[in-house]
Amino acid sequence: MPEPVSQGRLFVLSGPSGVGKSTVLAQVRSLLPDLWYSVSATTRAMRPGEVDGENYHFVTEERFRHLISTGRLLEHAHFAGNWYGTPRDPVEERLAAGEDVLLEIEVQGARQVRQAPGLGPDAVLIFLAPPSVDELIRRLVGRGTEDRATIEARLAAARNELAAEPEFDHTVVNTNVGAAAAGLVQLVTGSRPGSRVP
Ligand code: ADP
Ligand code: 5GP
Repeated sequence: MPEPVSQGRLFVLSGPSGVGKSTVLAQVRSLLPDLWYSVSATTRAMRPGEVDGENYHFVTEERFRHLISTGRLLEHAHFAGNWYGTPRDPVEERLAAGEDVLLEIEVQGARQVRQAPGLGPDAVLIFLAPPSVDELIRRLVGRGTEDRATIEARLAAARNELAAEPEFDHTVVNTNVGAAAAGLVQLVTGSRPGSRVP
């Protein structure tokens, strides 16, 4: 009889738009090549340099509604004017194969993962926090990828998202990209709930 493969661990990285999730994850990817990074579906327009199937699966609203109605999303949320969701099958397949999986999603989605039967209770929820609200605004505006109305919508969402930090198992403060990436690696490779990595 073959040994049963143990279930992989599910990590969720969340935090306000503009805090640096993508930037920090780019470093984590090179440090943890064996971690599997989920590719979300979204209805938002592609930014310059983004690649369909790599950064996101860019889909129409009709396609997104179909994904929801057929139960193909593990979680989904409407965020600052667009839909975002995590395709269920690839995540469940990787976990069942014993691989660790990381989702980079906003706060409403993280809450849904926490409630997901069989997955939520063991999921490790990590909050990426800005060093200050002013610095968060500087980063969001400085990225230069959104128009004024979109930045306003994201800032409004950010105020609620910042208040959600206590719902998470761990917080990493993104003052410096390298240090935040190292903090995440430390959490993924094993540490205790309730830690706050400066
Ligand atoms: P998110 O994925 O959370 O929306 P991004 O990774 O796109 O955020 O980062 C938003 C902006 O902040 C980008 O211009 C990025 O270069 C910048 N940034 C990210 N982390 C830091 C940091 N530690 N210090 C200064 N700027 C940062
Ligand atoms: P952006 O448009 O800047 O790429 O992402 C906006 C927000 O949506 C970010 O906070 C990002 O983490 C979140 N996001 C990306 N993919 C998903 C997803 O599959 N589900 C949810 N709930 N949020 C997502």
